[in-house]
Amino acid sequence: MSLTNQPDPEERRRVVAQDLQNVMHPILQHKALEKSQMVVTGARGSTITDADGTSYLDAMAGLWCVNIGYGRTELAQIAAEQMEQMAYYPHTAMNLPAARLAEQINTLMGGDYHTYFVNSGSEANEAGFKVARQYAKHEFPGQFRFKTIARHYAYHGTTLATLAAGGMGERKMKFEPFAGEFIHVPAPTCYRCPYGLEYPSCKTACATAIEATIQSEGPQTVAEVIVEPIMSGVGVAVPPDDYLPKVEAICRKYDVLLHVDEVINGFGRTGRMFGHQHYGISPDIMAVAKGIVSAYLPIAATVVKNRVFESFLGEVAESRQVMQVNTYGGHPAAAAVAVRNIEIMLEEKLPERAATMGAYLMDQLQAALWKHGITGDIRGKGLLIGIELVTDRDSKTQLDGALVGGVVEFCKANGVIVGRSGGGSRHSNTIVLSPPLVITRTECDTLVEVLDRALGHTVAKMA
Ligand code: PLP
Repeated sequence: MSLTNQPDPEERRRVVAQDLQNVMHPILQHKALEKSQMVVTGARGSTITDADGTSYLDAMAGLWCVNIGYGRTELAQIAAEQMEQMAYYPHTAMNLPAARLAEQINTLMGGDYHTYFVNSGSEANEAGFKVARQYAKHEFPGQFRFKTIARHYAYHGTTLATLAAGGMGERKMKFEPFAGEFIHVPAPTCYRCPYGLEYPSCKTACATAIEATIQSEGPQTVAEVIVEPIMSGVGVAVPPDDYLPKVEAICRKYDVLLHVDEVINGFGRTGRMFGHQHYGISPDIMAVAKGIVSAYLPIAATVVKNRVFESFLGEVAESRQVMQVNTYGGHPAAAAVAVRNIEIMLEEKLPERAATMGAYLMDQLQAALWKHGITGDIRGKGLLIGIELVTDRDSKTQLDGALVGGVVEFCKANGVIVGRSGGGSRHSNTIVLSPPLVITRTECDTLVEVLDRALGHTVAKMA
């Protein structure tokens, strides 16, 4: 079936019927799709186009992932060439693109890492949990280090283990109960501090809580701590500068591995190549996905520090090898596209661009949105930004969910796609922005202008 950018109405109707009768879509009620009947047919730069020919500025880069922007046709060429040359062989042998990609990642990380390839961010974190446990089995015989300490409201993926590690009740409750090896501690959500304190007089109590938890669980039972440097899904929680260094020091003190989830933060999003680089910490395990290939094909990775990797080496009879295999891990076509994706990022200095364009966007948002009393907080780093909406600034009462949803809908009706945080009753009132790193100033201006009108419209509705 060929679907051109603007199919005739008959073809469009056929696709909609075919989809509704056959496809089970993620996360949203089918009723919503039945209503919108949105069929996406084209995408260029920061803009997507639907089957009616309507264009939208995609201020979410898909699902926080199309970092180099849409429509890079050279990547299609690279995938086709690799498929013609050697479409697939399992990663129990070597292949050129995957070796090159691992080398690129190692260089970006300063040269002390090996990379295990998987297909999604969830799998990258899941493999990270397993690396931490297997490492502990090798290095601490006689101990039973299997627990992961994670944060409230975190999102680390959609498999059962990554959901259990996550802290978003509304994503978890349909699948409970989970195994008990994921222990949660308060997150650095400073605008709504879990302790009701303020930085710096709080002395980053949320970091200290990790040490208290390791002590109470027993250090000989804890394998790792997982953190997303800037928590994205909960509404872009930027931690105080000393939070992650403190967490790292606690991990070192108790020989607990530091597992950093860079699935959204990584590959330029926050204005550095990796989010943790703002804080001078050094992950033992790092999960990457999304921006590694800007979503042109599925590939993701678990990046492992050499001192951890070396624990997996030995004689064949010792059975120390990584005890898992992913059929598509290190897929040559996806790896080849990821290699070029990273080259493009470096050639076009996209992390630096995210820093400067993010600063511009932040200034414009600050200038335009504070006049609306429902603007509670505007925060972020690079092109990862959250705008928290409240009924009034003094009480910080969250804006009603239907009104927050109304802001998202208003923006879409006016040609701009923005996102909304998760985090249940405490944190789902933030509009989130994560546009392609190639977004232009003019597009930033459009985004701000539409958001300004959306908030004005919401305030008027509340009057
Ligand atoms: N980690 C974080 C921080 C994420 O935001 C996501 C997805 O949004 C994941 C992991 C899971 O990635 P995937 O959807 O590719 O499995």
